[in-house]
Amino acid sequence: MKLKTKIHLFSTLLMLVILSLTNIGIYFVFEKMAYDTEYNQLQLRSNEITKSFSKVNEKIDIGTVVGAYMPPNGAIRVYDATGKEIRKFDTVGTIKKYKPQFEKNANFSIEKFEGIPVLTIRTPVIWTNGEVVELQMIQQLIDVKESLRTLTLILVGVTAIAMIPIIISSIALGRILTHPIVKLIETMSQSRKTGTYEKISIPSNGKDEMGQMAKTFNDLMEKLETNYNQQEQFVSNASHELRTPLTVIESYARLLTRRGFDNRDVAEEAVGAILGESVRMKEMIEQLLQLARNHEQMKYDFAETDIYEQIEKTLQPMRQAYSRDFLLEGVRPAIANTDGKKLRQLLFILLDNARKYSDDLIKTTIEESVEGFIISVIDYGNGIPEDALPNIFNRFYRVEEDRSRKTGGTGLGLAIAKELANGLGARLKVESIYGMGTTIRIFIPKERILTEF
Ligand code: ADP
Repeated sequence: MKLKTKIHLFSTLLMLVILSLTNIGIYFVFEKMAYDTEYNQLQLRSNEITKSFSKVNEKIDIGTVVGAYMPPNGAIRVYDATGKEIRKFDTVGTIKKYKPQFEKNANFSIEKFEGIPVLTIRTPVIWTNGEVVELQMIQQLIDVKESLRTLTLILVGVTAIAMIPIIISSIALGRILTHPIVKLIETMSQSRKTGTYEKISIPSNGKDEMGQMAKTFNDLMEKLETNYNQQEQFVSNASHELRTPLTVIESYARLLTRRGFDNRDVAEEAVGAILGESVRMKEMIEQLLQLARNHEQMKYDFAETDIYEQIEKTLQPMRQAYSRDFLLEGVRPAIANTDGKKLRQLLFILLDNARKYSDDLIKTTIEESVEGFIISVIDYGNGIPEDALPNIFNRFYRVEEDRSRKTGGTGLGLAIAKELANGLGARLKVESIYGMGTTIRIFIPKERILTEF
């Protein structure tokens, strides 16, 4: 069943049930009020007749007294203490056969007799012979029956008329609610068919849940489109970057086959180039894998960590491998809630760049601030030109001169560093004076900050 039909059916049925229950309530309240009025009137008559009986004597005919208080469409009956009927006065023939049934200790009864409600009130009175007898006043409630019938007709009529706007509004409600969903489905199937990222048009006043849903859907589509374009760009950049070393390898391999077997110098040059390019390719593929894994939300293990110790652990093997001066200064211990392993990875990228693009001393400092620690990696190398600064975190970006220099870079290091910093909730800031050196600062919060990927 369609959602529209469900909404329509449910709201109509609900309103019908509410209306019916209200009408049933009105009917019973009215019925009770009508019976109460009739009861009070008959009770009044009964009290009057009781008073009159006390004044009756041998000279006054009991029939004359009863006649004065006879209820319309009713009867008066008198029973002695044994329950034997002493007298009866009936106004209508149909009532003759009616015998009221009283509930225990009740002084009245309301029963249906031949489809008409009949009210009976019983009262003890002193009979002409001084005996206590039971006087029953019976009245057919024909007017009440008529009024209840008219009321039933009115209520049914009102319900039927009220159902017309209810049905119309429930159809409209179904349409209003399902319209954006239908549009969403149409847009989704259109996107699926054409392979594009279609969006839903949101009305300017669309601030309700439906408008929010459409906005969320559009945001999702936009994000998917951006991600898709980024991936496409990434794949095309990656294949372009991998093509360069492969072309070098291919051309040196050809040279080797043509002239390498006769000429040792050519062979050595070719094998050296092939080896160098293979190492570069391997490094690039490893970095590409790391970037891809970062995208799948790498797991970060946050714990109380001494940042000073982590920097020292990163520096030691670098000092040994490159025989360069790597200095470390600053607060010790520097405790923060972070992932030590990922922090070391990030530091390694920055320190390795500092090493690659400078020949002098490399200094690392730690300063404490209220919210965290600032790690600065300082080198006194060539620096980065000002116009290149905004691009250095882009994938495969390398400053022009470094492309030709044999520093062995891939242009992926800082892109990975940025993703690692995001995961750690850290911020990176670069300051560089071209020709003087570069300082890259990492701001690490003391407490973990949850970041959105
Ligand atoms: P690469 O593998 O080329 O080093 P990165 O993403 O790590 O790739 O860096 C991008 C570019 O930014 C580098 O190619 C280099 O031109 C420049 N760069 C990064 N760090 C430094 C630095 N400390 N000094 C000078 N230039 C740098």
